[in-house]
Amino acid sequence: MTETVQCDLRINGGQLLNTDTATLAQGDIAVKGDQVIAIENVPENHVATRTIDASGLVVTPGIIDLHTHVAGGLRRSSPYVEDMMQDADLAGVHSGVTTLVDAGSCGISNIGGLVNHVIPNAKTRVLALLNVGSLGVNRIPEVTSALDIEHDEAVATIDARRDIIIGVKARMVSPGISELGMNLPKAAKAIANDAGVRLMVHVGDTTGQSDEALNAAPKILAELLTENDIVTHSFSGARGGLLSSPSPSGGSAAGDGGRTLLREALDARARGVKFDIGVGGKNFSFDAAKRVLDGGLIPDTISSDVTLQSRYVGTSFSQMDCIGKVISLGITLEDALVMSTRSPAAVLSSSLPPLLGERAEGDGGFEQMLGCMAPGTQADLTILRIHEGEWEYIDGDGQINIGPYALEPVSCIRAGQVMPIDYGPREGGWLPNRKRT
Ligand SMILES: [Zn+2]
Repeated sequence: MTETVQCDLRINGGQLLNTDTATLAQGDIAVKGDQVIAIENVPENHVATRTIDASGLVVTPGIIDLHTHVAGGLRRSSPYVEDMMQDADLAGVHSGVTTLVDAGSCGISNIGGLVNHVIPNAKTRVLALLNVGSLGVNRIPEVTSALDIEHDEAVATIDARRDIIIGVKARMVSPGISELGMNLPKAAKAIANDAGVRLMVHVGDTTGQSDEALNAAPKILAELLTENDIVTHSFSGARGGLLSSPSPSGGSAAGDGGRTLLREALDARARGVKFDIGVGGKNFSFDAAKRVLDGGLIPDTISSDVTLQSRYVGTSFSQMDCIGKVISLGITLEDALVMSTRSPAAVLSSSLPPLLGERAEGDGGFEQMLGCMAPGTQADLTILRIHEGEWEYIDGDGQINIGPYALEPVSCIRAGQVMPIDYGPREGGWLPNRKRT
């Protein structure tokens, strides 16, 4: 008689995502403590205290969102300023996301609140990028002059919390970019270099549509960014994004404005620069997305740039909604799930040192621990129901694209603990509107 292997959790009969091959195949998962201990054909002798029937559902490694704003309570409060910050667990585990990165909500003046208060109180694994502007987005714009960037303080701040602060964030928006030009991204890169971390650059001057942003974009891609730096808002239609400027004549014969992917973007990709989608409010355009894809660049990672406002009024309702948007552009479901699991895990894997309190080294490192499912990996798992249909996805210009799938998080397991899922950001829960006939 085989001995019983006592487990805490069994997930039975789900379609499991293999992130190496980007395929789905039926199987089971057994979890003990915070680890996956068996997968695919889990023997009957693995008996669990709790069982989840996942038949008809998709099971992925915990979804990762590389661009969010979750510094709740750290933005100034006034009758004129809404708190744009999302609750970390609402963007995280209660939405089926196990790991997220706060992308520059805070600068040196207020990141202590994120690191010492928000993150220790979140069930979600939260990492952070330090805004190059000392005030973070407590004040928008966060950079109005060179005085808003304090190099030595920023380097020291990162150095003090390398377990959480994994890079620098800089937004190439006016007036920062129009006032400082290339000195803005150079100052950000200098901090990142001296601290030994990556830089995430927001491309697309949504606030100013300035010539400076337009001129800086190819230079940033060609001269400034290095391996594992991240470009976010890859599908922005704003000037200073990844597309060339419209031709002065107002467009090509086809009347499409003639905007094409900057060749510097492909060169940067070849050097190991990562491209993230970062849907957000005004930073995602279906038209721009199609041009970027036509130019031969499929971004590495899908992220939401979700804020409190975007969650309820759009256009970035949730990471699940953002994955559906990307699928509506012709990316397969399986590829989009890899862009939300293994690919962002690979981006994070270059972060040094490994996260405190996690088994990051023993089993092959951070990349092995996140973004894939195998015996010995951290039991961060997301269970999804995939709804087929004709779903209306909306972009920052109000344009609608019809997608074949809508994703609903059904369950989320973080380090072996089953987390409750929220009702969802839309009137009907998690799903976008069905196509109107
Ligand atoms: Zn953002």
